[in-house]
Amino acid sequence: MIRIYHYRQKCIGCNACVEAKKDRWRMSRKDGKSTLVGGKNTKGIYRTEIENDEYKSIMEAEKNCPVKIIKIEKLS
Ligand code: SF4
Repeated sequence: MIRIYHYRQKCIGCNACVEAKKDRWRMSRKDGKSTLVGGKNTKGIYRTEIENDEYKSIMEAEKNCPVKIIKIEKLS
């Protein structure tokens, strides 16, 4: 399992995470920031857990985010 953290408030809406992993992030029409699909919000930090087979593309999203607000934690 992998845990993803998304510090959404600091998102600049560049779309890089969506390009890396379209089924994990979506751009919000409301505020122009990306939203972590399935993410639960705790004090502005969105978090979700996913299977290991998504690891590569999630890593790509983490690496490409220009403001470094996507963090990944490998759980198993
Ligand atoms: S890559 Fe980072 S800054 Fe760009 S939309 Fe995704 S979370 Fe926001």
